[in-house]
Amino acid sequence: MKIYMLFYFILLELRRIIFGVKSFAEVDVTDNCNLRCKHCYHFYGKEEFKINELSLSVWKKRFNELHKAGVRFILLVGGEPALRNDVLMLADKIFPFIYVITNGTIRIPGNFNHLLFVSLDGMEERNDSIRGKGVFSKVMNNYSGDKRVAINMTITKNNYKELEDVVNVAKENGFRGVVCNICASGTDVEVPLFIKKNERKVIIEELKRVKTLYSDDFLMSKGMIKWYEYPDHRESCHWGDEVLHFDVSWNRRRCFGNNADCSNCGCLAGAMQNPLQMVLSPREMMKLVYYKTD
Ligand code: SF4
Ligand code: SF4
Repeated sequence: MKIYMLFYFILLELRRIIFGVKSFAEVDVTDNCNLRCKHCYHFYGKEEFKINELSLSVWKKRFNELHKAGVRFILLVGGEPALRNDVLMLADKIFPFIYVITNGTIRIPGNFNHLLFVSLDGMEERNDSIRGKGVFSKVMNNYSGDKRVAINMTITKNNYKELEDVVNVAKENGFRGVVCNICASGTDVEVPLFIKKNERKVIIEELKRVKTLYSDDFLMSKGMIKWYEYPDHRESCHWGDEVLHFDVSWNRRRCFGNNADCSNCGCLAGAMQNPLQMVLSPREMMKLVYYKTD
C-alpha cells in the first residue's frame, strides 16, 4: 500500500510539472469555530464571525468539480472543520488523500482514515491560556492513542520552550509526531504573540535542538526548519503558487488567509515546499505526506 501510494504521488507531481494539472487543494469547509484562540488569523480583527453553513449538496458539487479538474489531495481547514464532519465524510468518498487541521475538541469519526493535524500549543496551562479552558483535556480525551494524529503546535515567543514537552506528550499518547507553525499574526494586542523576523533566532535554535534529540517524533525536516530560518519567500512558494486555495465562499486566494505575509512566513505548508523535495526527507514524508493507517 505504501509503495503504491508513493508511486501515485510521484506520478501526480510529474503530471503537474509536465501538464500543469494541480493535484492539491486547500479548502475552508466552514467559517465557524467553537474556539477563539488568541493567535487565530481566521478571526483576525473580527468581533463576530458566523455564517450559515452550506448544504452537503453544495459541497458535493464543489468536490466533484475539483476531482474532475485533477485534484487528488485535499487539505480541509476552517474555522473548525470538525463542525462539519458530514463534509469530511463526503470528501472521504471522493478524494484518496485528505488532511485535516482541527482543534481536536470535536472528535472526527474513527472510520475517517486520514491524517489529522491536531493543534496543541504547549502543556495544559499554556495551551489553555491560548486556546481556552479545558481544551487540552478535551483533545486528550478525544484522541489519545489515535494513530491518525500529528500534533500541530503554533510556536510563539511564549510557548517555544514547551516544544520538547509537547513532543513527549505526542510520544506518550501514541501520536504520529509533532510539527510546528511559527506564529506570524495575532488577534490579541495585549498578548505579544506575533514573531518578527529578527526574533526567530532563538526559536530556530530550539527547533534544531529538539530535532537533534527527537528525530523520529519531531517531524520538521532540516529543510523545513531552514524555511523558517529564512522566512522571506516572496519570490516563490510551492504552496502559494501550485496549490488551489478556496475560502468557504469559493473565492480563490494564495494561502490560508488573504493577509498572508510571505516576507515573514511561518506556515508549515510552505515549509514542506515542493512535495518531490519531501522525498529527500523520507522519515518525515512517511509520517506526513502519504501514510495511511491501514
Ligand atoms: S481553533 Fe483554529 S479556527 Fe478556531 S479560533 Fe482557534 S485557531 Fe482559529
Ligand atoms: S505565507 Fe508562506 S506558505 Fe503562504 S503563500 Fe506566503 S510563503 Fe507560501
